[in-house]
Amino acid sequence: MPRQKLIAGNWKMNGLAADLEFLDAIGPAAAAADAEVLICPPATLLAEAARRAGAHGIMVGGQDCHAAVSGAHTGDISAAMLRDAGASHVIVGHSERRCDHGENDGIVRDKAVAALEAGLVPVICVGETQQEREAGRQEAVIAAQLAGSLPENRGQRELVIAYEPVWAIGTGLTAEPEDVQAMHAFIRSRLPDPASTRILYGGSVKPDNASTLLGLPDVDGALVGGASLKADDFIPIIQAGC
Ligand code: PGA
Repeated sequence: MPRQKLIAGNWKMNGLAADLEFLDAIGPAAAAADAEVLICPPATLLAEAARRAGAHGIMVGGQDCHAAVSGAHTGDISAAMLRDAGASHVIVGHSERRCDHGENDGIVRDKAVAALEAGLVPVICVGETQQEREAGRQEAVIAAQLAGSLPENRGQRELVIAYEPVWAIGTGLTAEPEDVQAMHAFIRSRLPDPASTRILYGGSVKPDNASTLLGLPDVDGALVGGASLKADDFIPIIQAGC
C-alpha cells in the first residue's frame, strides 16, 4: 500500500478568528487532492477551525499538548482537550518548543504517549542544528532524538514523524533534496514499522520547492510553517502532494 501524503500547516502563534476564511479558500483544493490536509492553528481557534474544516474534509490539530491528563498546569492544554475541540493530530517536540521551553526527548515522548492515549495522532518532530550538520553529526543526533522521543508499545496506533532541520525552519534555506532523501531513508530504517509510518519534511517548504521535495521516495508529506498562512502559497503545496 503506498503511503498517502499528508500536507500539514503549522500556523504557530499566528491567526485570529477572521483568518479562518483560509479554510474555505483551500477547501476545494483539499477536497480535490489525493493527499490528506491537516491545519494546526493556535489553540484559541481550534474548535471553530474544526467546525469549518470538517466541511472540506480538512483535519485540524494542536501545536503542542501537556503530558498529563489534567491537573494544576496553568496555561497548558491536555491532549484530551484538543481531541474534545475537534483535533485529530497534535505536533509534539517542535524545535521551537524544544528550544523555547526546554523540552527534551523524554518530555516529547511523554507528550506523544499522552496524545496516543487521548486518541490523537502525534506528529513527532526531530531535526539537527546547523552546527550538528556541519560537524557531520546529523544522523547521530536524529537517531538519539528518535530513540528518546518515540513511544514504545504503541500497538497499532498511528504516529507521524516530521524531519525538520532546525537551520531550515523559517530561514528560506531548504535542505538539498539528496540530503532530505538520505535523512528520510535513515529515519525510516530506525522505525519499528517503516513501511507504514509517514515521514514529513519541514523547513522552508514553499510552492517552488514542494514538488521536488514531495517527489522524493521517502518523503510522505510536508510540515509547512510560513507558507501555510496564505492560501495562495498553501494551495500549490497541497497540489504538489497529489
Ligand atoms: P517554515 O516552518 O515552513 O516556516 O520553515 C516549518 C515548521 O516550523 O514547521
